[in-house]
Amino acid sequence: MASNGYRNGILKGSVKVEKLSPSSNPKPSSIKSKTTSTQVSSVRRSSPASLGGVGSGVKVPGRVRVAVRLRPRNAEEQVADADFADCVELQPELKRLKLRKNNWDSDTYEFDEVLTEFASQKRVYEVVAKPVVESVLDGYNGTVMAYGQTGTGKTFTLGRLGEEDTAARGIMVRSMEDILADICPETDSISVSYLQLYMETIQDLLDPTNDNIPIVEDPKTGDVSVPGATLVEIRNQHSFVELLRLGEAHRFAANTKLNTESSRSHAILMVHVKRCVKGSEAALSIENGNGSHMSKNFRPPLVRKGKLVVVDLAGSERIDKSGSEGHTLEEAKSINLSLSALGKCINALAENSPHVPVRDSKLTRLLRDSFGGTARTSLIVTIGPSPRHRGETTSTIMFGQRAMKVENMVKIKEEFDYKSLSRRLDIQLDKLIAEHERQQKAFQDELERITIEAQNHISEVERNYAEALENEQSRYQKDYKESIKKLEEQWMLNQQKLNSDRARVEVKQEPLDMGLAVAELQKSLQNEINLRKAAEEEVNSLKSQLVQWRRSEAVGNAEVLKLRKLLEDEEHQKEKLEEEIAGLRSQLLQLSFEADETRRSLDRGGSGKILTGLDSLMSQVRNSQIKDSGNGQKAPIVNLFEQVGLQKILSLLESEDSDVRIHAVKVVANLAAEEANQEKIVQAGGLTSLLMLLKSSEDEMIRRVAAGAIANLAMNETNQELIMDQGGISLLSMTAADADDPQTLRMVAGAIANLCGNDKLQITLRGEGGIKALLGMVRCGHPDVLAQVARGIANFAKCESRASSQGTKAGRSLLIDDGALPWIVQNANNEASPIRRHIELALCHLAQHEVNAKDMISGGALWELVRISRDCSREDIRTLANRTLTSSPTFQAELRRLRIEC
Ligand code: ADP
Ligand code: MG
Repeated sequence: MASNGYRNGILKGSVKVEKLSPSSNPKPSSIKSKTTSTQVSSVRRSSPASLGGVGSGVKVPGRVRVAVRLRPRNAEEQVADADFADCVELQPELKRLKLRKNNWDSDTYEFDEVLTEFASQKRVYEVVAKPVVESVLDGYNGTVMAYGQTGTGKTFTLGRLGEEDTAARGIMVRSMEDILADICPETDSISVSYLQLYMETIQDLLDPTNDNIPIVEDPKTGDVSVPGATLVEIRNQHSFVELLRLGEAHRFAANTKLNTESSRSHAILMVHVKRCVKGSEAALSIENGNGSHMSKNFRPPLVRKGKLVVVDLAGSERIDKSGSEGHTLEEAKSINLSLSALGKCINALAENSPHVPVRDSKLTRLLRDSFGGTARTSLIVTIGPSPRHRGETTSTIMFGQRAMKVENMVKIKEEFDYKSLSRRLDIQLDKLIAEHERQQKAFQDELERITIEAQNHISEVERNYAEALENEQSRYQKDYKESIKKLEEQWMLNQQKLNSDRARVEVKQEPLDMGLAVAELQKSLQNEINLRKAAEEEVNSLKSQLVQWRRSEAVGNAEVLKLRKLLEDEEHQKEKLEEEIAGLRSQLLQLSFEADETRRSLDRGGSGKILTGLDSLMSQVRNSQIKDSGNGQKAPIVNLFEQVGLQKILSLLESEDSDVRIHAVKVVANLAAEEANQEKIVQAGGLTSLLMLLKSSEDEMIRRVAAGAIANLAMNETNQELIMDQGGISLLSMTAADADDPQTLRMVAGAIANLCGNDKLQITLRGEGGIKALLGMVRCGHPDVLAQVARGIANFAKCESRASSQGTKAGRSLLIDDGALPWIVQNANNEASPIRRHIELALCHLAQHEVNAKDMISGGALWELVRISRDCSREDIRTLANRTLTSSPTFQAELRRLRIEC
């Protein structure tokens, strides 16, 4: 071109700078200042830097940038125009273009950028489109539009795919490369629509069936969109190139179908870039903007939605209105409508006209934001060098010049992404619900664990309590048993003492012992009380523990109540024990009272227990004999008897040596215990010797043993008479009167009792004081003695009753005569059964003789008989008493008198 210029020699002095920029409009002058060159020379991040940090809603002026590109001569032009200079001359350094009017005159125009026929595609992209792309990435809308006559290189500039030669890549491909390189695939997204506008119809180049897409305007914001267009998300460069190719193919097919040329349609590529604003940038933006009232958690993510619109306009040449291209006039109008409307709008905007006819065409509606709107817009006007098209070239240049005057107010497209916030909140809600459920579960588990623990604790407490209770109970029982045992022992001890004291008639000692016993009892009672106190304290402490447990374990109330009940039962049992102790105490008192009674009765010479009979007496003698003869020479008595001879033994009874005498009498007594020996002893004069000993001996022991031997001999009827004949009754009576030793007295009483059973001896016995001797011996009070006395009386009464029934006795009983009746009545119910039995029998025998009846009634014996007939444990005695009572008229009369049934 320059060569042409030089060749044509049309460099003129008068430079028509800003010919079309009226001085009244201040904008172009400011545009012409340094900013233009600064903008162009900055390789990266030029103008958007000045917008950095501007909050949403803030608008800043941003004039439409216009570059002019000159296509090199094509082959045809090189030939056809070979002799002509280019119609334009470029001064890229000055960003000026000279348009030749004729050989001597030219007009000069200044542009934002002047791109010569040598300008590379890369440079064109960087100068024209890159600042716009960067703005789009920052959240602004951006427009790159090519305007020019058909064949001047609009499509070359914008739409070359550059598949064979990457250097040839056009603005669309390069823009996408930069966008893809800048975005963050995780948070950002790119989607693309590709449309064709032909005869006021919008067709979808990505979906040919979609051939009449409406434009939708937001009534509030006036924002324009084509929601009906296919929107394809772009992930990589390759898919984008494929998409462009597809679009191009569809465009070609559509135009073929419509019998049009692509130069008559406008191709519009829309690239939507949605970016997430992060970190401090977002915070700053929110502070400056409208997000300050939001809490951080519920702050929706801030997104920037930039839209890059790349418009490859239809050829700007005027259509022959004559319809030479086969169009009707109407068609021609319609084809040109959008483009002429665009020109009108730009004129209006350039002249600051109050009315901009945006709504006149679809193109101007679609590009509303690009001119006079909020978008950053770059226009590239393409021109050819041929002077043959000077007219078209001029009009193109003028279009570019006017467009340079259009001032946009660029505004960042920033908004809150409520959808994504909602998604985020949904996720958070789900998380919270899950967490809540987890916590609920954990809480329930914990609750369950605590419940089980509490139950375990309660059952442990119950177990402990039950154990304590059981221990306490068993301790009580043990204590109780021990105290009972102690009392029994005490009682036994007392009883033994009492017996021995009775025997010794040591009256003085008894109260002392009783005193001791009472003291002992009091001590044990005190012990008992202490134990009970300790137990009560224990119970109290358990109670307080129970209260504590209750506080901590409200759940265990019912169980605790049950335990309380047990405690009460325990207390009842304790009370019972106390009652029993009191009972025992009173028993002891009773005992001591009885002991006193007994002692008093002993004082009076009353009855006592007779524990053993004559047999035991004899065995005692025998045993003592064996023991005495022991001393290393334990020869049986029989052997002694055989070795020594009876006569010799009897002679020893008169020995000078008292020891020898004692031994001898013991041997004799022992021998006399055997019935077989008795006759021999009597024949050998043993009875006489024994009676002599009884008479003469001063030794108590000798007299006792002798009396025992006589008693044994007196069991035999023949011997009884011999004893009687030799004055034995008197001797025995004498001994009975003198002796103090209960054993001696028992032997004597036994001997007399045996004699009492002999019918023939009744009179003599009584005559020699036998009955009186018997009765005299009751003074001793020893039960054994008393039993012998009672046996004697019974034997005597039996003989008398036999005699009376045989008619050999008529008078009153000699027993009654000798005053035996009071003692009989007194001991008729003696607690010692041997005494009681003998006396019961004696009473029955006495009662059988009617002559005794009166005395018996007056002596109180009738009562005893009645009692015997009713209460006696032995049936034979009971029957005997009954028969006796019924057979006696005197008794019957008395009983009737007393109205006693018998
Ligand atoms: P338009 O789209 O404006 O009708 P094209 O882009 O189709 O024009 O270009 C028409 C012809 O000119 C094409 O063959 C193209 O390769 C060529 N062409 C356009 N601009 C240039 C250029 N700057 N350098 C080389 N050839 C170009
Ligand atoms: Mg084209």
